[in-house]
Amino acid sequence: MLNLKQNKSKNPNPLFTDVSITKRTKDGLTLVNKTGLSREIHPSVLTDKGLDILLDKVHVPVAWMEDWFAKTLAETKQAEDNRNKSLFYKNIALLIANKEFILSDRKYFMTPVTGLNFGVYRVGNFNDMPIGAWLEIWSFYPATIDTCACGGIAPIVSFGGSALSGAHSRTAICLQCGKTIKNSSGKFSTIWKPFAEVQKKYRKFPERDAVSLEKLILLLKSKTEMLNSQSDKE
Ligand SMILES: [Zn+2]
Repeated sequence: MLNLKQNKSKNPNPLFTDVSITKRTKDGLTLVNKTGLSREIHPSVLTDKGLDILLDKVHVPVAWMEDWFAKTLAETKQAEDNRNKSLFYKNIALLIANKEFILSDRKYFMTPVTGLNFGVYRVGNFNDMPIGAWLEIWSFYPATIDTCACGGIAPIVSFGGSALSGAHSRTAICLQCGKTIKNSSGKFSTIWKPFAEVQKKYRKFPERDAVSLEKLILLLKSKTEMLNSQSDKE
């Protein structure tokens, strides 16, 4: 039988976790997990598993906690992904302007770009490429850059489609006017193949010293401000 009693040992079982009950009514319990996520749940979900809902805390298998918080966890992940994606999209011009600086240092090169979700049917996804790989792709493969109606250049940031038929749709962001551009014409293989090639090259590189994209962007912004204020003085 599972031991669901409060865990008093110094080395808690990693497969178990504590979930607090912070509020209880006849029809609902408010549960809070260790990372502070909270949700309302019907008391029967716990009582059906033989748990005492009058306790302040229940000690349960991690899988149960994940099950109870699945929706909240998914929403939190989605919000986090959206935040990371927009951070990347909004700062592409800044990242490209500092290309040499980023490519010259492994810890900047390997900065992970997260929150993306795109790829090619039967080939795979390109969700986990470091920023250095993106900069390399845009520099060396002209087909990965679209042109905006305003005349500005627009690096491709996302696509989906089939390698077999070549049917696809893609998204690019104009460096000049900032517009998001959708496109589906042109030869798809000249767009996705560079991603597959470059990703293969950097997938095996360790990320251990990499800084976060947020930190890198802050650094680049302060670097740019410093340069601007210097040139103002001259
Ligand atoms: Zn434009």
